[in-house]
Amino acid sequence: MRTLEGRVAVITGASSGIGEATAEQLAGQGAKVAVLARRAERLAELVARIEKNGGRALAIAVDVTDADAVRAAAEQVAAELGEADLLFNNAGVMLPAPVEEQRTEQWQRQIDLNITGLMNVIAAFTPQLVASAGARGVADLINTSSIAARNIFPNFAVYSGTKAYVTHLSRHLRVELGPKNVRVAAIEPGIVGTELQDHVTDQGAIDWLAGSKESIDWLTPQDVAETVGFLASLPARANLQQVTIMPTAQAS
Ligand code: NDP
Repeated sequence: MRTLEGRVAVITGASSGIGEATAEQLAGQGAKVAVLARRAERLAELVARIEKNGGRALAIAVDVTDADAVRAAAEQVAAELGEADLLFNNAGVMLPAPVEEQRTEQWQRQIDLNITGLMNVIAAFTPQLVASAGARGVADLINTSSIAARNIFPNFAVYSGTKAYVTHLSRHLRVELGPKNVRVAAIEPGIVGTELQDHVTDQGAIDWLAGSKESIDWLTPQDVAETVGFLASLPARANLQQVTIMPTAQAS
């Protein structure tokens, strides 16, 4: 169903996993999509697939931790697709490890991307969301959080802290931007099979993930993508502010 016809969506972290699937989903629902990530080749392949299926897509290779580059990307989106009215703020990295191992470089990478990168994207695109909502009556800011925002996972303290930030930030932004017709939501998935797990270096976490994959049918990126498409297709008066989506067999 082309429920997003005429809309302009921006998806960060679109070169793999949840972001990639969501770009295809939103394009399939009729939105023009701008896809952002660092790997230009992966983005080019995604754009080619979307356009082959009759969609309109724009690839912008950008590191979202670079505020100036993200601002330039926002200008490019407005110039080439029109002002964004749907932002799926999704790029993130998960690097668990016992805190006593002092992997400060990994702490910083998670904070830089999951918090600072997320904020760079909000800073660059919020003016477009507010303007679009003023003109058309609705816009969406959907942030990817995690069940790690609320649940306790040993050795995931820094990642979980960044996602608690995303969830709490989203609740605050909703009351700030809702009166301007910008809906704000946080999506909190349980385990989704993506490249996220491939970046993990801690052996304990690698073993835990491998055991979980054996016993649980993990979510697919498409499961989350459909949820994003559903949120954005609700009537303008309805803001589904928080969604927790779990593999059926995952306890917590
Ligand atoms: P992936 O690793 O597949 O996707 C991460 C995306 O972020 C990639 O497209 C990557 O592209 C992009 N990215 C990484 N660093 C940067 C950067 N500096 N600038 C721009 N883009 C960047 O993992 P997922 O799809 O699983 O992750 C998406 C989101 O979902 C994350 O926020 C994650 O925390 C969250 N999440 C994932 C869960 C899971 O189990 N998979 C569960 C709960 C939440 P590139 O390398 O090309 O830049």
